[in-house]
Amino acid sequence: MTDTRMLIGGGRPAVDPATSMAVTSPVDGRELGRIADATADQVHDAVTAATDAFRAWRRTSGAERARLMHLLADLLERDAEELALLETSDNGKLLRETRTQARFAARNYRFFAGLADKIHGRTVPLDAWDTFDYTVREPVGVAALITAWNSPMQLLANKLAPALAAGCTVVVKPSELAPLTTLRMAELVTEAGFPDGVVNIVTGGAEAGVALTTDPRLGRISFTGSVETGQAIQRAATAALVPVTLELGGKSANIVFDDADLERALPGAVAGIFAAGGQTCIAGSRLLVHERVHDRLVEQVAETARRIVLGDPTDDATQMGPVASQAQRMRILDRIGRARTDGAQLLTGGGIPDDADLARGSFVEPTVFAHVDPASDLAQQEVFGPVLATHRFADEEEALAIANGTEYGLASGIWTSDVSRAHRVARELAAGTVWVNTYRYSAAQAPFGGVKKSGYGRERGVEAIDEYLHTKNVLIDLSDEVRDPFAIKA
Ligand code: NAD
Repeated sequence: MTDTRMLIGGGRPAVDPATSMAVTSPVDGRELGRIADATADQVHDAVTAATDAFRAWRRTSGAERARLMHLLADLLERDAEELALLETSDNGKLLRETRTQARFAARNYRFFAGLADKIHGRTVPLDAWDTFDYTVREPVGVAALITAWNSPMQLLANKLAPALAAGCTVVVKPSELAPLTTLRMAELVTEAGFPDGVVNIVTGGAEAGVALTTDPRLGRISFTGSVETGQAIQRAATAALVPVTLELGGKSANIVFDDADLERALPGAVAGIFAAGGQTCIAGSRLLVHERVHDRLVEQVAETARRIVLGDPTDDATQMGPVASQAQRMRILDRIGRARTDGAQLLTGGGIPDDADLARGSFVEPTVFAHVDPASDLAQQEVFGPVLATHRFADEEEALAIANGTEYGLASGIWTSDVSRAHRVARELAAGTVWVNTYRYSAAQAPFGGVKKSGYGRERGVEAIDEYLHTKNVLIDLSDEVRDPFAIKA
């Protein structure tokens, strides 16, 4: 277990047992610890601490911020195994995935450390010769970083790394369902030597989130989570006109053409939906297959799903762990029930595994539906679980109509050996990410984000730092002319 106290201005206030919230393991329902349900006053104090710390932090050199970020990355790498185990116990993700994510988080801090001393404006030639105009890129101030439970370490790195590199101070609020690795970060940022108040961490649920997102002192809110919460946050931020970055849900299409290498497409389709039990925003939850190869590939996917090994996520033999909570499991089963009522054909799964060893965890069988109506609930709504909707298409036009026919636009996959088709289809897909002959490939350098109801703004890549910077324009009149106060100079 880790110290579950919040981090506010360098202090760690005791968790009040009377109002604390339990953190339970989805693997066996065990209580892992208790976290504070931050009061509005505590959230206010955290924003005050970040506001105070910003005065000095914004003046630190990029090189100094980069030094601290590299130290933080060193610590993440040193403690990667411990962090991975903590995250796995907290959200049930496979240990092999949380291990990768701990290293990937470190990679993100290093990538943005590399940008911290390369933030610069430009000189702007105006029409009038006797002027000098330049821009300065300045940190927006205090950023509120709110994350979901499915990949806390990675989601936090996506936000915290560019925010720190830009010179912002932050108040982080992890999901109450899986807060432990974020709380462990409290120790790591302190050990790395970040000044008090630069990183603050508050815990709690929606109320703490509301207290944070309605604080008018914020310079940016960056949120990862559901569409509904994203909409609520955008509304809350409107009063003070605080800009928002939203990383929301998805209903991503993985499209397999008849000229694809099916040997590669099969694991791509399976990874798209069953890796992490489908609990990723980028899940390839819709598999679109050309009619010539449809029956063969869909049956192979279903057959692979039947053989997926469910179990303890820390066991190397396990291929799929539990979903994150009993409540999440109920939601998934409800979606499965609706798909059956809507007439989709269940090829495999559809329920709770019939295995006594798994009885205490929140497991769901890997589930594949065929002949799913593209207009149905299963094809349109994010399940956030191991449930695949498959569709048959006749040509590119139909594939694109189905792929683009949802309110979401996060990720997509194209499987083809025709390079022209790959580029043609990539251009037409309404999605923030297009993978070709691969799926679920993340890189610190590559920007990530959504269109439509999947949100807006970008994380990772050089684009991400822009979310945390303002552009200031400075115009100097070089002439010694005494101006007519009523003539606008242009
Ligand atoms: P959620 O929206 O329920 O919660 C996310 C966070 O918001 C939590 O920290 C929660 O405590 C907080 N919160 C809840 N209500 C709030 C409010 N009114 N004001 C402020 N904060 C509030 O989402 P979740 O169930 O934790 O995560 C699952 C969702 O996240 C899925 O839809 C998934 O697609 C999405 N997701 C998106 C990405 C991405 O990068 N696009 C990545 C991971 C997950």
